[in-house]
Amino acid sequence: MATTSNPVKIGLVGLGKIAVDQHIPAIRNNPALELVAGCSPQTRPDGLPGYDDMQAMLAAHPEIAALAICTPPQVRHRLAMEALAAGRHVFLEKPPAATLGEAESLRARAAEKGVTLLASWHSRFAPAVSAARAWVAARKISNISVMWKENVRQWHPGQKWIFAPGGMGVFDPGINGLSILTRIVPDAVIVKKADLHFPANCDAPIEVQMDLQTESGVPVRAEFNFLQENQQTWSIVVEAEDGGKLALHLGGTELEIDGRQVLKEPEHEYPGLYAHFHQLIASGQSDADFAPLRIVADAFMVGKRIAAPDYIE
Ligand code: NAP
Repeated sequence: MATTSNPVKIGLVGLGKIAVDQHIPAIRNNPALELVAGCSPQTRPDGLPGYDDMQAMLAAHPEIAALAICTPPQVRHRLAMEALAAGRHVFLEKPPAATLGEAESLRARAAEKGVTLLASWHSRFAPAVSAARAWVAARKISNISVMWKENVRQWHPGQKWIFAPGGMGVFDPGINGLSILTRIVPDAVIVKKADLHFPANCDAPIEVQMDLQTESGVPVRAEFNFLQENQQTWSIVVEAEDGGKLALHLGGTELEIDGRQVLKEPEHEYPGLYAHFHQLIASGQSDADFAPLRIVADAFMVGKRIAAPDYIE
């Protein structure tokens, strides 16, 4: 078992926005982990030994015990399969893969190799999520809404992969809302209807409206929009049969109960995720829940495709 004098040595695969903004500082601030190197076709952040690809990085640093795959989803499965085949623990950025089939093959391969697989959902580590889960568990719920509306030009500049096949379009942020939803409700969430708005020049939707239902019959309305200007919305509202109302705002950093703010904390999701990853490795376990990805896959299966204007970056 790794200790602070024997930290788990980590390599990063894909050195884009999320790796630089979150993974590098979260690993460096956790004394039980050691960031050894990173690889990416072109990007080379300062102060980190960098390689063109994962195999070159592992050849130079065979001491790396765990790999965090922070690439776009389209290439995640191949890289994660190689990492598992090489006997490394794997941290998958969200979404865990481009398809459910890929995700399930990773879960099976990790179990076969006896290594840890973490299918990470960073939004589940937002500060208000566990309080929301407890509130929901104590009540009979009558209605839920998930509103995830942000400006793609502000948050994803230059990320061509997001509108390419397998990039998921507005489901890329929307799946974060679904990851909180599937954490706070106790039963499975089923897709009843989905309207998927595809710009003519994109292979993934820019706007989505879904009618979902929990297995116990609670209706859930989900609306995702990638063209939201000014106020950005990352909110979930839950209404209970007793008249109670819970609202999570700003991705789960703020919690309101019956209209009164009861929690407001800065986000610190990635430190929590890496502590969880370390704990999983230390206890020889995996955490690979694909419920949010299943909702997205089902929406593509039953969804109606609606034409939207071209997306001009
Ligand atoms: P990004 O800025 O486009 O970065 C992706 C990186 O992956 C790029 O640096 C690219 O390399 C690298 N890459 C592509 N193919 C690779 C390969 N075969 N091997 C190694 N590296 C490869 O995207 P991002 O925003 O960081 O998002 C990446 C993932 O994190 C997505 O799944 C996204 O949903 C998730 N995520 C993003 C955010 C966010 O706020 N941005 C938040 C949470 C989760 P080069 O630059 O070297 O060409």
